[in-house]
Amino acid sequence: MISRPLSVLSQSPIRPTVPSFEETLARHGHSSLKAASLTTLQVNVGKLCNQICHHCHVDAGPQRTEIMTKETIDQVLRVLAVTPSITTVDITGGAPEMNPHFEYLVKECRKLDRTILDRCNLTVFLVKGKTHLPEFLADYGVEIIASLPCYREDNVDAQRGRGVFDRSIAALRQLNTLGYGMKGSGLVLNLVYNPLGPVLPPPQEELQADYREELQTRFGIHFNELFTITNMPISRFLEDLVAAEQLEEYYALLVNSFNPATVEGLMCRSLLSVGWDGRLYDCDFNQMLNLSLHSEFPQYIGDFSLESLHNRPITVDSHCYGCTAGSGSSCGGTLL
Ligand code: SF4
Ligand code: SF4
Repeated sequence: MISRPLSVLSQSPIRPTVPSFEETLARHGHSSLKAASLTTLQVNVGKLCNQICHHCHVDAGPQRTEIMTKETIDQVLRVLAVTPSITTVDITGGAPEMNPHFEYLVKECRKLDRTILDRCNLTVFLVKGKTHLPEFLADYGVEIIASLPCYREDNVDAQRGRGVFDRSIAALRQLNTLGYGMKGSGLVLNLVYNPLGPVLPPPQEELQADYREELQTRFGIHFNELFTITNMPISRFLEDLVAAEQLEEYYALLVNSFNPATVEGLMCRSLLSVGWDGRLYDCDFNQMLNLSLHSEFPQYIGDFSLESLHNRPITVDSHCYGCTAGSGSSCGGTLL
């Protein structure tokens, strides 16, 4: 069993005795992972959050002080203004709405006519000073991707904190009232499921049907799609695995479930991640592990160059097995 202190585990990639990800790619006929295009800029505007969830890969919470400044947001906007091929801005955190410049970012992205995604924990709508946000998001046509790891109260509260399920249901009802998730409204409301423990998600379509049935019947709630996401063995989920002595077992599951058909669609091949301090990464997971872009490529959003970044080699490590297990996993759900 690996016996490193948790504080170290949560900040660095861990390398249990598993085959190297690159070697596994090569064994299945894939050369080193490279970006294929750049259509999404995922902007992590900070680690501040009103919740402290067990599985959080960001280690976010109310005490975190890392917040993207307006100057860095302006650098992001300058990149978008001159890079029309980036069609989607995916805003994440923490609870991204807790950044004081969140609404500015949304308004400016709308002026630039981009698809805007808000990775929302739902309960933030009940935080003092944030209750106007559902209407704001609807006015600006922002797509909401909302975490709801189960349709049962006990499971949600166990993972995300007491009372989170009830508050999430109240927020979903409010979003439906505004048209979110309703046919013909054009307002997209997608939900995110992640397993409660060290297992792979069930088939996305089947679980989506269950969610639709349960949420509609019991609460009258509508949504567009359900994304199932595999828990990554980093940060708090990693600490839980270590504490439960399940880390090696979970890694074995991920490695043994490697599916070469997922490689083509890996999100890092079309996405660039921006950290709260403007640093660039291949994805939000690499960001949390401080795995930078290869050193010969621009490291900060202020140095952005599409020419150098659009087919860059991607920094991989053992956590990448989380994206290639089973049907694959990304911020937009399964890959197959
Ligand atoms: S999982 Fe989301 S809602 Fe929960 S602590 Fe992390 S950022 Fe906040
Ligand atoms: S964690 Fe997933 S998205 Fe990130 S670099 Fe690895 S394979 Fe790509």
